Amino acid sequence: METKIYKEANLIEAIQVLKEGGLVAFPTETVYGLGADALKKEASKKIYEAKGRPSDNPLIVHIAREEDLSRIAKNISLDAQKLMKAFWPGPLTLIFKKQDIVPYETTGGLDTVAVRMPNHKLALRLIEESGLFLAAPSANTSGRPSPTCAAHVLEDLSGKIDGVLDGGEVNLGLESTIVDVSSKEAVILRPGFITKEMLEKVIGNVQLDPTLLEGAKENMKPKAPGMKYKHYAPKGNLTIVMGETSQVVNKINTLLLSSPKDKVAVIATEETKDLYQCNQVRVIGTRKDEATIAAHLYRILRELDELGVEIIYSEGFSESGLGFAIMNRLVKAAGHQIIYA
Ligand code: AMP
Ligand code: MG
Repeated sequence: METKIYKEANLIEAIQVLKEGGLVAFPTETVYGLGADALKKEASKKIYEAKGRPSDNPLIVHIAREEDLSRIAKNISLDAQKLMKAFWPGPLTLIFKKQDIVPYETTGGLDTVAVRMPNHKLALRLIEESGLFLAAPSANTSGRPSPTCAAHVLEDLSGKIDGVLDGGEVNLGLESTIVDVSSKEAVILRPGFITKEMLEKVIGNVQLDPTLLEGAKENMKPKAPGMKYKHYAPKGNLTIVMGETSQVVNKINTLLLSSPKDKVAVIATEETKDLYQCNQVRVIGTRKDEATIAAHLYRILRELDELGVEIIYSEGFSESGLGFAIMNRLVKAAGHQIIYA
């Protein structure tokens, strides 16, 4: 099939495709999502096919108005209501018990449903004017870095989806924080821009799913099945070097000595970019503002793919605040290959 590119001016056409059960990728503030009617099981199935996604990996349902939530979710707790008031629209996904109208094809066979209200004008218009609930996982091929612009979506999914709504570059560049509020205790399943500290200011104690704490441990043996897979991964072999910055620079320079010059790249920061003996140094952002690092991570991994580099060394980042979400993605992209300088 030919994948059409829609602009805001052709929103009506994109909506028509979604209403007929088709697939249209659209921008949100986090990453581009691959949208389909969340209540049509045939439409959800198409998402899994296009992405090559395992069918037990559930989708996030996107809504535009809080009053629609109770049609797809039940037992909405007081904590959940407080979190929605504080962070919606925004990069926070909440997990609820699902209503019967949500097909198991959308929830990966689970009795819970993940819901989010994106903070993006075009996404909200698409959802609201279609009158649909839109299931929308990241619009990439399963396992590859998530897309932060329409061109990334086309790189992976051209010919496999009906269209992409081009809304330019996304703002944040990392997927939403996911919090399970379907039982008594709120649990973070995936870190993101809304940090544990921010959640705790609103509802008190929040737990971290234990698998998240195993992130950057040396020689970690994966416990949860999903953790053994590479995720968000570039084609080159990525290794993270952790430690005090000057030691990290030294270590990477030592590693560069034994790497073929035309096949290796370094992911550096504004602060360190001039310190490497390497032809391909990519600046991911500045340590003074971690949001810049989050915003460029996936773009850089894709650019290194295009260059065809075979070996990539990346500096590691602090695991506090937003750094926790950045390291969560970077460690998966590296398939848990970490060196301590
Ligand atoms: P993606 O939108 O591709 O970044 O992936 C959506 C992610 O949301 C999945 O990989 C799950 O980790 C999570 N998720 C979605 N629905 C549920 C659910 N019902 N329970 C737990 N996690 C969920
Ligand atoms: Mg994804």
